[in-house]
Amino acid sequence: MLEGWLGSGLAAAVRTLLACTFLSGVFLQSASADDATTSARARMVTQIEENAAAVGKVGEKPGISTPVLDVMSRIPRHLFVPEDRRRFAYEDRPLPIGYGQTISQPYIVALMTDLLSVDESDVVLEIGTGSGYQAAVLSPLAKRVYTMEIVPALAQAAGERLGRLGFDNVTVRQGDGYYGWREHAPFDGIIVTAAANHIPPPLIQQLSPGGRMIIPVGGPFFVQQLMMIEKHSDGTVTSRHLLPVRFVPLTGGH
Ligand code: SAH
Repeated sequence: MLEGWLGSGLAAAVRTLLACTFLSGVFLQSASADDATTSARARMVTQIEENAAAVGKVGEKPGISTPVLDVMSRIPRHLFVPEDRRRFAYEDRPLPIGYGQTISQPYIVALMTDLLSVDESDVVLEIGTGSGYQAAVLSPLAKRVYTMEIVPALAQAAGERLGRLGFDNVTVRQGDGYYGWREHAPFDGIIVTAAANHIPPPLIQQLSPGGRMIIPVGGPFFVQQLMMIEKHSDGTVTSRHLLPVRFVPLTGGH
């Protein structure tokens, strides 16, 4: 029933809210009356802000920006985790989603989304759909989100889930994201949610001038570095290390 209520209007509602702050108070009141998870999400967002304050400045970002926190206070993370984990859905930690994979910690989702600096005209590529939660968070902030997942069952489940919840500007495809998604390139932003031991050259190629990529780089048994890759308007590419992180590995045949 909760799923039905959230149904097709959710993504549209979040988009409208971001565009129209006047209406957001009205929506919030009705949402909190109907949805027992709203207060749990508010606590999760507070935890994200506390983590951000403890970590300090990452790149040029002193904290997580309000539009990203707003979206995270509305996306029903509990519907992206297996039923037997729902009670932990709003704790600030990663959770198993099957097939040896995990949904990332909410703070990391917030941080990576914020670092991507998406705007509503942007076309974004995500590599590592997993549950679809990161794609759902990007959905109201971007024009279109393309997301690739290598595990067929996860790709299918995420596609169905995102469709059912009304995230109509997200398209999921099963495949090896190392090679990107050439048909829809170039992308204003690319976000990789599995760790590669090098930055995949096809993804750099598929970034548009002025675009940026957020990617964890490093082996599974070593400290990985969250990196920002920027392609400048003259075509030059620069990279910088942002933060030590730990992600599941980017698999596939490369
Ligand atoms: N963003 C996800 C969590 C990602 S976990 C969420 O919000 O739930 C990392 C995911 O990357 C896993 O589901 C894993 O199967 C996927 N993955 C690993 N290697 C991949 C590759 N080469 N191409 C596409 N997906 C890959």
